[in-house]
Amino acid sequence: MMLEVDKINVFYGAIHALTDISFNVEEGEIVALIGANGAGKSTSLKTLSGLLHPTTGSIRFLEEDISTKAAEEIVRKGIIHVPEGRKIFAPLTVMENLEMGAFLQNDKDQIACDIRSAFERFPRLKERQNQLGGTLSGGEQQMLAIARGLMSHPKLMLLDEPSMGLAPVLVEQIFEIIQEINKQGTSILLVEQNAKMALSIANRAYVLETGSVVLEGAAKDVMENSSVIQAYLGG
Ligand code: ATP
Repeated sequence: MMLEVDKINVFYGAIHALTDISFNVEEGEIVALIGANGAGKSTSLKTLSGLLHPTTGSIRFLEEDISTKAAEEIVRKGIIHVPEGRKIFAPLTVMENLEMGAFLQNDKDQIACDIRSAFERFPRLKERQNQLGGTLSGGEQQMLAIARGLMSHPKLMLLDEPSMGLAPVLVEQIFEIIQEINKQGTSILLVEQNAKMALSIANRAYVLETGSVVLEGAAKDVMENSSVIQAYLGG
């Protein structure tokens, strides 16, 4: 197992945000976490990436307990957190954003090579390489967030709401890119309010409600579950 989250509890002060949550990701998988606003999806990702720490429970990544590790160390181990697209560095150029994504890499040639790969994957970003991040469209910012994440050569990518605020045609494009990244060997944990899209590309899914996992299974089974259809797939 690549990632094993076992009964973690996470608090914001007195607020109990995650209660005994367990889930896992196998190498090569796309796993979706779906659920309504406030269900605990973003908190789960922040805990995996070391921005928050569980009070109890464990997080194992490639057989090692990472639940108390610092965020930078977790990136070093191969987990990257791609926040929703608006959280790129707005006052920096596209190029500078990508360079920031390579903060663990000292080899300048390798960085240049990775930037070339990013531009091959996202020609749109190449055209806008000297433009400030904050002036990009929503879809371009999301692409930049993903491209920046790839600069660290992650084994596991945590994607927070990649479809947020995007027109349907761009959502399709972003989801195709996610599938492509996965096919090239990066495992993906995908948090989405757009349950339909997430389930359509995921191998497995977990449904979160008020900080707990209430349902888990193969994405196609979750998609056919009547309470999921009722609550998240528009009846
Ligand atoms: P959303 O899509 O709205 O971000 P979510 O499923 O990602 O929803 P979380 O953001 O993880 O949910 O929130 C889980 C719970 O933790 C909610 O009750 C939320 O109000 C609370 N919470 C989130 N961030 C904080 C914070 N910084 N301080 C206090 N409580 C928080």
